Amino acid sequence: MLIFRGDHKLLTFAVRSHMEFFFYLPTRIYFASHALEAHGDELKAMGSKALIVTGRSSAEKNGSLADVISSLDKLGIPYEHFNEVEANPSVETVYKGVELAKLKGADFIIGIGGGSPLDAAKAMALVAANDLTYEELFSGNYAKSPLPYVAVPTTAGTGSEATPYAILTDNRIGNKRNLAYPSMFPDMAFLDPRYTAYLPYETTVNTALDALSHSLEGYLSSRVSRIVEPIALESISILGKALKKLRTSDEISEKVRHKLLYGSLLGGMVISHTGTTCVHAMGYPLTYHKGIDHGRANALLMPAYLDFLEKYNHRVADVLDSLGMKKIAEFDELISDLLGTKESIGVEEIDLFVSIAKSAGNISNTDPAPTEKDIKAIYMSALL
Ligand code: NAP
Ligand code: FE
Repeated sequence: MLIFRGDHKLLTFAVRSHMEFFFYLPTRIYFASHALEAHGDELKAMGSKALIVTGRSSAEKNGSLADVISSLDKLGIPYEHFNEVEANPSVETVYKGVELAKLKGADFIIGIGGGSPLDAAKAMALVAANDLTYEELFSGNYAKSPLPYVAVPTTAGTGSEATPYAILTDNRIGNKRNLAYPSMFPDMAFLDPRYTAYLPYETTVNTALDALSHSLEGYLSSRVSRIVEPIALESISILGKALKKLRTSDEISEKVRHKLLYGSLLGGMVISHTGTTCVHAMGYPLTYHKGIDHGRANALLMPAYLDFLEKYNHRVADVLDSLGMKKIAEFDELISDLLGTKESIGVEEIDLFVSIAKSAGNISNTDPAPTEKDIKAIYMSALL
């Protein structure tokens, strides 16, 4: 029997058998070089005044901001620009953006950048429409749909352009937290690989590893379904090949950039249906307490997580096969080469991370879900 709960099907759907699924992906996606030039007139349907949300400076340098502004200018749509989104955006930043949106009367939001501005903008669209207080923010109880929201990714990693999630830093609980709601899928997304052309090598690697983590965790998740599997395996295969190229050279061709952005989009589609699993749950405290970049934090944990899972989950072999590998040790070597020197972390710190990660909601998506002891063992094996 399928379980649906009102408007929350996507978040509460319980997979009872491999052949049963609920698939929902309402975002209108344009993936092309010069996508905004060709299809920017679609923005007409979004509203009459835009709030453009970016990080500090990259959107100005990579051409994405200019393309969005040019599309808006052609349509005669006025805009305000909020450029204060930091990495791992805080709830406070979301409220700052909402204040500007309200003050200036913006009726739709355009997020440009990596996952941080995309997620902050996505949350702003929800908060602005519902006048949510901090206390109400993660309640999952929202009367109105978010303001129309358009995503323009400039990193190839989070897939936020195709998910109903916004990952925010909640300083009140001292961790990163997932704000998730089915109507938070972007209405539209413009993916132009040209914007990623000058993404630094390290950010390229970290974001690609985040994307791989999405598809890999999704494929191995207890929520995977038949329709998501080929998307996940295609993504793993594409990202695996690109990562092998990155391992040997920091010169990144246009073709590889294109593939990374495509693989990352597919990863977003995967986790929008499966959620993430214990890798993400365990990575968040590493980012919050040690400042380790999100994709890197996941990558540090992935080989040990596969080692843990292999005993119980025969599907690990499919993942290795898609990566063109036979053993987890080969994957471990690839990750080690890409990450370089690892952070030094103490045993006492691991106890803190375990205490935080064990109660994260996405732990239960892991198949099988690790116990507290397992979580500690994965951290120890990955970090010590
Ligand atoms: P990010 O934090 O958005 O950006 C990292 C850095 O890259 C920033 O310094 C940014 O500069 C720069 N940058 C962005 N695009 C660039 C470009 N084209 N060229 C040069 N530099 C560029 O990194 P991210 O890894 O994409 O996003 C991570 C966040 O997404 C985390 O908070 C993570 O938890 C979240 N996430 C969300 C989902 C989801 O489903 N919503 C999934 C996974 C992860 P500026 O600040 O100047 O822009
Ligand atoms: Fe992620």
